Amino acid sequence: MDKDCIFCKIINGEIPSTKVYEDDEFLAFMDINPAVRGHTLVIPKYHCRNILDTPENVGKNFYNVISKVSNAVKKAFNAEGIYVFQQNENAAGQEVFHSHVHIIPRYKGDEFGKYSPPRLKVEIPEIAKDGEKIRQSF
Ligand SMILES: [Zn+2]
Repeated sequence: MDKDCIFCKIINGEIPSTKVYEDDEFLAFMDINPAVRGHTLVIPKYHCRNILDTPENVGKNFYNVISKVSNAVKKAFNAEGIYVFQQNENAAGQEVFHSHVHIIPRYKGDEFGKYSPPRLKVEIPEIAKDGEKIRQSF
């Protein structure tokens, strides 16, 4: 718990939110500035900054909860797909420094896709080198 953290305040009820799922370890609630209708956030109740400092015991159930909430959002919004993303640190666009995952309902040809950044043109050997760099980083 961090007394200055907006998401910790949401967890302890100091700041109101629209909760959609809660268990002992996790909370899911509606994003107050949604990118699309149904934009939901999933957070661990344990305060950690992002995926880079999430303790193993906190992270191990995160995916299962994201899956559960994603299915609920998909059903709730009759979505054809679900876009899940997480930003880690400023350079990646993170604005609230309490680990959180975005769940976005998607539809074929929807407007949301227009805001995705353009893809880079990278040759296969370069991609292979990138893969090797990542493998060497574990
Ligand atoms: Zn927090």
